[in-house]
Amino acid sequence: MKIARYRHGSEESYGILDGNTTLSLPSLSRLLKKQLPPNLEEFIAQGERATETVAELLTKTKDVDIEKVSSPLNAVSLLAPIAFPPKIICLGLNYLDHAAETNSRVPDEPIIFMKPHTAIIGSNQKIIKPKFVKELDYEGELGIVIGKKTKNIGVKEAKESIFGYTIFNDVSARDFQFKDGQWTRGKSFDTFAPTGPCITTERQLCTDDLAICTWVNGERRQNGTTRNMVFNVSQIVHQLSRVMTLEPCDIIATGTPAGVGHAMKPRRYLKHGDRVRIEIEGIGVLENTVEEQEG
Ligand code: MG
Repeated sequence: MKIARYRHGSEESYGILDGNTTLSLPSLSRLLKKQLPPNLEEFIAQGERATETVAELLTKTKDVDIEKVSSPLNAVSLLAPIAFPPKIICLGLNYLDHAAETNSRVPDEPIIFMKPHTAIIGSNQKIIKPKFVKELDYEGELGIVIGKKTKNIGVKEAKESIFGYTIFNDVSARDFQFKDGQWTRGKSFDTFAPTGPCITTERQLCTDDLAICTWVNGERRQNGTTRNMVFNVSQIVHQLSRVMTLEPCDIIATGTPAGVGHAMKPRRYLKHGDRVRIEIEGIGVLENTVEEQEG
């Protein structure tokens, strides 16, 4: 099941994304007078109970009713699936090929840093490049969305904590990232955490070997696979849960494969008008344009 949050007219809604159609769950709830979670955050917190309830309800819903609560994708504006994640935790150097292209040592324990929720934007919203940022870069990443409060979970059980997966662009100002010696400032500007277009539920996606590709203005820059992760999804959740309590709607960005602009020769950074498109199989496409602003 793919779940998206979106604006339809003046109303914010959430629901199931099926090809080029969205099905509003709050509208379905009103039409059928069946109780469903009022928003995506509650849906995630209810986890499997919510997905099973909806799946069962849909098998019993008449086509004419499904049509009443559905809208074509081009009639809605997709929003970031989660607007206010309790935490955005990111992994650095978590792909063998990316560690190699940056001449970095492969870490023996996950390197983690965090981004503020004020950096979140959805697909098709603008990445704002302040004029004083000179070295803007993209990082296409698989994002984990946590579904359950989790502490000290084992590797084998770790996937039980996951609600699903989304696409995450770990937008980075390389000039500030490397000037500071730690990454908070370079990674935390407003709009530096595009997420979307939807969340694919955990059971529907095997993350062992997912293709992950990034294009800038149609030119393919990243052509990776999650097979090259240093720490896989289960190991990441296990390791992070030993450090901090994971909570429903936390987002974990799992690192980027090779092909970032900073590692190209010569280096190539993002500029005003550039369009960054990230695709992960089984999830979809996250697309954002860069807009330079006086800052
Ligand atoms: Mg990253």
